[in-house]
Amino acid sequence: MLRAMADGEVAKALISVLERVSAASKSRSPDVASLCSQPRLVAVSKTKPKEMIIEAYSAGQRHFGENYVQELVEKANDQQILAECPDIKWHMIGPLQRNKVKKVVEIPNLFCIETIHNDKIASAVNSSVEKYLRGKKLKVFVQVNTSGEENKSGVKPDEVNKLVSHVTESCPHLELLGIMTIGAFDHDLSQGPNPDFQTLLKCRATVCEAQCKEPKEIELSMGMSNDFEHAIHVGSTNVRVGSTIFGARAVKK
Ligand SMILES: *Cc1c(COP(=O)(O)O)cnc(C)c1O
Repeated sequence: MLRAMADGEVAKALISVLERVSAASKSRSPDVASLCSQPRLVAVSKTKPKEMIIEAYSAGQRHFGENYVQELVEKANDQQILAECPDIKWHMIGPLQRNKVKKVVEIPNLFCIETIHNDKIASAVNSSVEKYLRGKKLKVFVQVNTSGEENKSGVKPDEVNKLVSHVTESCPHLELLGIMTIGAFDHDLSQGPNPDFQTLLKCRATVCEAQCKEPKEIELSMGMSNDFEHAIHVGSTNVRVGSTIFGARAVKK
């Protein structure tokens, strides 16, 4: 059932998620812990009003994620958010088309784009950053389609290295933070580890080998409301949690 969250509920839910993130991180095996950094919580505020973002920010949250370009542009430029959340860090986590790249790159307080899914988008973002963020680099994740579902964006696991090389060799204005997956929504954890997360871990190993990097240098963005603790347990460094913090979303038509 859908209901509005009353005053204070966002902060309460946020604190509870942060406690779960911290507990999951502490319960990593030494093997996993040695290969990855402390997880970062990205609060996914898509479809939610700015008041909720401000409440979460006031409770200490800094990283926020949005899926839709128009909504991200509006929220990032909102006068109240600019005034009350000066240190907010936006993550673009939705599908990105080339004709929308400039709009995203120009928003204030953009932290990263998590959805670089092919060479053309990488090059377009690189040119935009060069033009509009002179002298700065933009952090990006390469998105991997680990579940092979046609409706999911991202490169195939066996093409990750090619796209990563394109980013590191031909996109001097981008800084590769890591790799990201959404994965199938219906995995039943009682059946064992989420295979999408295992695939992303394997991709990290091949990227590290090809790029001569340590695993700790390639972040893993994986895990959402229903599986972020499991994701952290197996090595996620960036979990994207929406409905558990902000409440269920109305279905977007
Ligand atoms: C909506 C969304 C999330 C958050 O989903 P919840 O299940 O609400 O936590 C995370 N990542 C992406 C890419 C999303 O689109």
